[in-house]
Amino acid sequence: MNAPVVGAGVIGLTSASRLREAGFDAGIVARELPVDTVASSVAGAIWYPYGSAADAREAAWGRCSLEVFTDSVGAGLPGVVLMDMVDLLAEPGPDPWWADPARGFRRCGPADLRAGYVDGYVQETVVIDVVPHLWYLAERYVELGGRIEHQPVDSLHDVIDSDRLVVNCSGVGAGVLAHDERVEPVRGQVVRMGGVRIDRVTMIHEGPLAYAYVMPHGDEAVLGGTRERGEWDRTPDDAVTEQLIEKAVLLEPALAHAEVVAVKVGLRPGRDRVRLEHEPVSGTPGIVHNYGHDGNGWSLSWGCADEVVRLATRTAG
Ligand SMILES: Cc1cc2nc3c(=O)[nH]c(=O)nc-3n(C[C@H](O)[C@H](O)[C@H](O)COP(=O)(O)OP(=O)(O)OC[C@H]3O[C@@H](n4cnc5c(N)ncnc54)[C@H](O)[C@@H]3O)c2cc1C
Repeated sequence: MNAPVVGAGVIGLTSASRLREAGFDAGIVARELPVDTVASSVAGAIWYPYGSAADAREAAWGRCSLEVFTDSVGAGLPGVVLMDMVDLLAEPGPDPWWADPARGFRRCGPADLRAGYVDGYVQETVVIDVVPHLWYLAERYVELGGRIEHQPVDSLHDVIDSDRLVVNCSGVGAGVLAHDERVEPVRGQVVRMGGVRIDRVTMIHEGPLAYAYVMPHGDEAVLGGTRERGEWDRTPDDAVTEQLIEKAVLLEPALAHAEVVAVKVGLRPGRDRVRLEHEPVSGTPGIVHNYGHDGNGWSLSWGCADEVVRLATRTAG
């Protein structure tokens, strides 16, 4: 069956690849190519399903994605490595829901903590340098016979047909395409620093340095972060850049000697929860929606792609 996919971010590429592997004729049509996407190409990124609902579906998507990314590290694929991540807590807290699938999970010892933080945990996680990994995902998709048509879609009804199932992976664009008022941009600014080698990820969501993270990629590191709901402006804010560097230096003093390589602003596809379901459309096979991953799209991607195939197969059968 013909199953065009709208969107070429991590969600569209993984969905389209899995659909092709399952025998669907899944071409991609996208306004932005993978390395120009507003979310996927800007992310830090690590496997860390922090904001995802701890329900059975999302937990399963997270577990599946962690397995695929861990295998990708084992296979030496571009842009993925395994590294320790420390998550610092200002107050003692329980283990997160993903303590079980996470590799090497343990509570912080005194040597892991920083001023203002009394607790936390360490896990080994997958760190993804998104641009080389998006290139890899796009090339693999093309090797599977896929093609990416670089153009905007005004309406999903322009793509759907009596024998075409549409797969909607349009990220924050789904607000318009799916007429979904629950979708909103969640703006995030990141700073990429060069000339520094750091050997662990630090993540902070609470306490005096919140919200801050440092994600190393070889001789560089991505510093974040910000989360501004409803904000579409992608112009970097210089004052924010300074604040991000200041906080990151407190976490990793080696960054004091690093140089700014790039400053980017991305738009997470915010929604109260991921929309991954089949919508019937009269006279057609309908639409499978896969969007609204907010700050968890990389962490849930492969599990969501498998679910897309299950929904598409049920519809086709
Ligand atoms: C700063 C930042 C840090 C992040 N860190 C992490 C992290 O550490 N771990 C993690 O798991 N996630 C992280 N995320 C979140 C993750 O990047 C997103 O959830 C994920 O990239 C969403 O992917 P997507 O493919 O749905 O959207 P996008 O990457 O935005 O791709 C959407 C695609 O749809 C296309 N599209 C949209 N509208 C149309 C239209 N009308 N016509 C045609 N094409 C259209 C676009 O052109 C694009 O190709 C982060 C995000 C940001 C911004």
